[in-house]
Amino acid sequence: MPSAFPDFRLGTVLATSFTATLTERRGDAVERIPVPQRLVDWLAVSGLAVDSCTADQLELAKELRESIHAAATAAALDEALPASAVQVINDRSAQGRAAAVLTPDGERRWQLSSATAVEDALGVIAADAISVISGERDGKLALCASPTCQAAFFDTSQSRTRRWCDMNTCGNRQKKARFNANQRKGAKATE
Ligand SMILES: [Zn+2]
Repeated sequence: MPSAFPDFRLGTVLATSFTATLTERRGDAVERIPVPQRLVDWLAVSGLAVDSCTADQLELAKELRESIHAAATAAALDEALPASAVQVINDRSAQGRAAAVLTPDGERRWQLSSATAVEDALGVIAADAISVISGERDGKLALCASPTCQAAFFDTSQSRTRRWCDMNTCGNRQKKARFNANQRKGAKATE
């Protein structure tokens, strides 16, 4: 049964939160937006609420997601950006017509047009990816140290030494694995 609070990994960076809708990329990958409604859910919790999403729009979203993943991974490794990924990111950015608006409380909101809301939302995500990959934002792209993940994430820690895309999942699992390994070593030593 679909959960009312879907299990999304939401970080502080929109573009990498979006690529994290596919987790465990190098292991048993988990698709967190398998149907259009799940993308609607993710957009809602990410400040980009839309009324509806078609199967074609979901495909467009996944194509953008994988393009951001490819480009961000290349950037993290200091490799040349894949041209096809750059093209998709630029196309989505150019197609979106979202407007940034200021609320009375001084917060920024994205105003999407009702007819093309998903395309507008993807434009916002693409623009966010561009700002991260281009290096204009304060932080550094890195790859998650979990071997079954290796997701690109944006490290904004002061020392730029963050190792995991997400402390609560990948970070915790690595710590537990190390703890168990030490326990086993300890058990052997006393045998
Ligand atoms: Zn990870």
